Amino acid sequence: MSKRQRIETDAGTEVQCAKCLEFWPEDPEFYFFSKGKAHSWCKDGYRNDPKQIAKAARQRAELNARRAARRKEQRA
Ligand SMILES: [Zn+2]
Repeated sequence: MSKRQRIETDAGTEVQCAKCLEFWPEDPEFYFFSKGKAHSWCKDGYRNDPKQIAKAARQRAELNARRAARRKEQRA
């Protein structure tokens, strides 16, 4: 299992981001969740990482290509 640092604060549990090493509340406002667990990076980490930005741009391009293909099919 993960060995990420956790701290208990008055506001609840906070977990450490593996990217920026800051502690943030274990909350969808600060972390993405999958299968009920917070990702190891905070949302800002994902937003600011060049690889993630490139990946998001690629996914958007693929989605747009799929949409364009579907529109073409519907017109045929
Ligand atoms: Zn972070």
